[in-house]
Amino acid sequence: MDADFVIVGGGSAECVLANRLSADPRVQVVLVEAGGGGKSFMLTMPAGFGMTANQPGHSWHYHGDPEPAIGGRRMLLPRGRGLGGSSNINGLLHVRGQHADYDQWSNLGAIGWGWADVAPYFRRSETYAGGGDELRGDAGELRVEEVAHRNPTNDAVLAAFAELGVPRNRDYNGADQHGAFYYQTTVGDGKRCSAADAFLRPAMARPNLRVVTGAMCRRVLFDGMRASGVEIETRRGIETVGANREVILSAGAYHSPKLLMLSGIGPAAHLRDLGVAVLHESPEVGANLQDHYILTMSWRLDPAAYSYNRELSGGRLVWNVLRYAARREGPMTIPAAQVGAFVKSDPLLDRPDIQFHCLPVTGDLDAAVAGEKSKLSPWPGLTLGPNVLRPASRGRVRLSSPDPAAVPAIVHNWLEAEEDRRLSLRAMRMARELVAAPSLAALVAAEPWPGPDCRSDDELLDYARRYGNTGYHPAGTCRMGIDDGAVLDPQLRVKGVAGLRVIDASVMPRLVSGNTNAAAIMIGEKGASLVTCQAPQ
Ligand SMILES: Cc1cc2nc3c(=O)[nH]c(=O)nc-3n(C[C@H](O)[C@H](O)[C@H](O)COP(=O)(O)OP(=O)(O)OC[C@H]3O[C@@H](n4cnc5c(N)ncnc54)[C@H](O)[C@@H]3O)c2cc1C
Repeated sequence: MDADFVIVGGGSAECVLANRLSADPRVQVVLVEAGGGGKSFMLTMPAGFGMTANQPGHSWHYHGDPEPAIGGRRMLLPRGRGLGGSSNINGLLHVRGQHADYDQWSNLGAIGWGWADVAPYFRRSETYAGGGDELRGDAGELRVEEVAHRNPTNDAVLAAFAELGVPRNRDYNGADQHGAFYYQTTVGDGKRCSAADAFLRPAMARPNLRVVTGAMCRRVLFDGMRASGVEIETRRGIETVGANREVILSAGAYHSPKLLMLSGIGPAAHLRDLGVAVLHESPEVGANLQDHYILTMSWRLDPAAYSYNRELSGGRLVWNVLRYAARREGPMTIPAAQVGAFVKSDPLLDRPDIQFHCLPVTGDLDAAVAGEKSKLSPWPGLTLGPNVLRPASRGRVRLSSPDPAAVPAIVHNWLEAEEDRRLSLRAMRMARELVAAPSLAALVAAEPWPGPDCRSDDELLDYARRYGNTGYHPAGTCRMGIDDGAVLDPQLRVKGVAGLRVIDASVMPRLVSGNTNAAAIMIGEKGASLVTCQAPQ
């Protein structure tokens, strides 16, 4: 099973990487993935994400450690497991982030990762149904389409944003993110387009690419200070896979730092405490963890208003699944949110700092935060999930044990930073302003969560602590840069050793302003070009 390149993980960045590296028939590539093949009807059907995101077969299904700034809650932290990784269970929203995010990366020392540098890689990977131009791609493997299923409640949300002065933006992934819109999604012909669908499966017939599923990487092996392969655990037991040129860790923002630490690269005192021999001290491995924090709020709508509560329940649900199976259309084609907006907490800002996810459906939020199976409300509802785009709070990933099978110890510290609390309050008040705008006020009957009695800053923050949720966007735990603390150099090589890179969402110096799948795929594209020394065509 030896190869030139061994890739650990089969997720968003890794599928692109495996495709681009194996495009050269002289190069042998092995990809090892802990999960399975990542195919099922529920994964393909976009609305199936509500079921699959927390299904142990498709998700790692971890709980984090108690979160100090949100009352000690232990958050469920799903990550995709199987070919496609998190792109297989994600909410399908396609968001690049802001051009300024990448310029900031470059200013922080990620030389070569400014917007002008990364734009060609975003463009290369996609076919955007809205058509190609100098910013958007029309020949890439990743299918990107606007939400197809429209309804009057989503239209009313867009009208309400306009009434608040938030303009309609026809392409928030283009020149400017600001405005309200129907989301662009990683959907093609009504089916989820995961990174495996787009990039990996079409390459799997190549004789020089070997994909091994059910293979959990336990650690990187070294010959002196050079990575020489990986140790994996399969049903057959423990085996090794040799790498003649490079080992590439692409296990995501929780697992890549975990694997570095299990291999002796990380904060020395922490590794020694756990009895792991230190190969190279790198204090920031696992540090700098960032994520969005979704402030879920729900309204009860007038009984006549359109809502997915009706479409996803009882006989209507059966009918809609059959309709989807027959024609790939209807409510089962919807992503996690259909309408959204990037807004400014203060009109004087030069770029948005708050994102809105809007969906005309509500679940029982009390049951959800209690960890019970999610239940749809019996009445038609509307949920708004605003979040701060560039949170200042930082968490960390550590080992909980030297056992590779152990769950890592993860603390996000959501809402720890005063700035995050201030902006979260502003975001929640904006959500209420939106619902009070004429187009939505005409549809809304009541506010069950947070509820009319929740008004002061303290009350709203208390609600945010109890009902907020992970944005599912962990990033930054193996950050690149040119300062001494950076884990990687800007070529994504692990500092202090040879023959080892990290290529996934963990390399981001700062979380991007938006959902992270598109950025992870771009990192896979650009990472591949750094490995092969080839620029995009
Ligand atoms: C529920 C959910 C909803 C989301 N919604 C959206 C959304 O709507 N839009 C958006 O843009 N982003 C969304 N995201 C985030 C986005 O999908 C991720 O940021 C992106 O997929 C991360 O890509 P990655 O390459 O870093 O890692 P991943 O795609 O997570 O891939 C890591 C892979 O490594 C494998 N792996 C881990 N450890 C090992 C090991 N030891 N050995 C072998 N294999 C291993 C995993 O099984 C996995 O397949 C969502 C994520 C989740 C979980």
